[in-house]
Amino acid sequence: MGFLAGKKGIILGVANDKSIAWGVARACHREGAKLGFNYLGESLKKRVVPLAESIGADFVEPLDVGSDAELDAFFAKVEQRFGKIDFLVHSIAYANKDNLKGRFLDTTREDFRTALEISAYSFVACARRAAAIMNPGGAMLTMSYLGAVRAVPNYNVMGVAKAALEACVRYLAQDLGPEGIRVNAISAGPIRTLAASAIGDFRKLLAKAARGSMLKRNVTQEEVGDTAAFLVSDLASGITGEVVYVDAGFHIGAGDPGED
Ligand code: NAD
Repeated sequence: MGFLAGKKGIILGVANDKSIAWGVARACHREGAKLGFNYLGESLKKRVVPLAESIGADFVEPLDVGSDAELDAFFAKVEQRFGKIDFLVHSIAYANKDNLKGRFLDTTREDFRTALEISAYSFVACARRAAAIMNPGGAMLTMSYLGAVRAVPNYNVMGVAKAALEACVRYLAQDLGPEGIRVNAISAGPIRTLAASAIGDFRKLLAKAARGSMLKRNVTQEEVGDTAAFLVSDLASGITGEVVYVDAGFHIGAGDPGED
């Protein structure tokens, strides 16, 4: 029996088989959880439905987290299908691609608002609706990156959004703790995904992350998935409001010792 046997969870943010959310889904499925998914737009539906089916999940519903109406409709369907849930995984971020290269200084008001709304506020919007149908002992999890606490070239407004997201984790943990619900983030090292490909010079970032890490390599989607499964399980019952680094130890070091 897996350590998530009998648990029901919603995983938001699968776009394809490279998505971090898909690594989380595979690990949670392996540990016995029953899962539901969202997709953003019809073109991604074609990718997400077969992935969900491959692990025996048939709850795959549309959700653009920028819309309160879609959030209400999605979580109403979750309640209809699952009744109460035990965990929520939020693995969603978006910024205008032009913001992920060059100078942070040039970020417009509109681009700042979009990045913060989709990448940070959306976790609050999902958490409120999920908490209303969550069993005591439940857990929520989101995905962050080191750019929240360090100035990383090209990460720019997304770093500001991740800083807000990590603060949201702490305030949500404070609000939901009395209900027995835990809220955490994983700060993952760079992994080649659709979202990551929007970041300027991502190939360089990957190489630097490996060279500067304690393990001298990049992390995998599977390693983030395994940590996520642990954090949403009862094994992590004493952990809340935390940002857990799954980055092969990069953040404790002095950075990249080598050349670019
Ligand atoms: P991905 O492109 O596979 O996933 C991003 C997801 O966000 C996609 O499924 C996309 O559909 C969804 N999304 C964007 N806007 C949305 C909206 N308005 N409504 C609903 N969904 C929306 O890329 P990923 O790398 O797996 O990203 C997942 C999370 O992990 C993000 O929060 C990202 O910032 C974070 N992260 C990624 C890395 C990395 O190097 N890949 C490192 C640390 C943290």
